[in-house]
Amino acid sequence: MELIQSFSVDHTRIVPGIFTSRVDHLGGYSVTTYDIRLKRPNIEPVIDVAAMHSLEHLIATFLRNDPAWKDEVIYWGPMGCLTGFYLILKGNRAPRELYDLILRAFRSVADAKEVPGTAPENCGRCLMHDLGMAKWYAAEFAAYLEANADHSEIFEYPAAERLVTGDGQHFYDS
Ligand SMILES: [Zn+2]
Repeated sequence: MELIQSFSVDHTRIVPGIFTSRVDHLGGYSVTTYDIRLKRPNIEPVIDVAAMHSLEHLIATFLRNDPAWKDEVIYWGPMGCLTGFYLILKGNRAPRELYDLILRAFRSVADAKEVPGTAPENCGRCLMHDLGMAKWYAAEFAAYLEANADHSEIFEYPAAERLVTGDGQHFYDS
């Protein structure tokens, strides 16, 4: 199924969830960028930056070690607005197909004894981590996903016309 989205997203109506952000076709391949949105933009407090950093390390490590998915993962990283993460995967799956993976990934944080890769050799700001708060945000998002599994709005973004800036450029945030 093609999931090309030529529209922008109305950030005033986003709820947390798993969403297709964009699909790129590279030769014979498709690559899909997903927004894994934990917080309602401009309404809820954003994720604390140290917890965000720890969740980047923890969930990237989980995804890249998952036997069924590790070969599909191209990128996992935080959004600059601190309301969620970008996940880039090979192929073009509907967001609902990622539900079990994302739920397992965030549930796995509860069992973490440490944040992987926090030595100066491995990390650009090795002192800026917070495993306790990472566990709190991960548990909150996992509970939200479970409570809203049957709600289509956690998988479908509200559309809006793509913004054109004053000098005629089309706006993109990723
Ligand atoms: Zn780091």
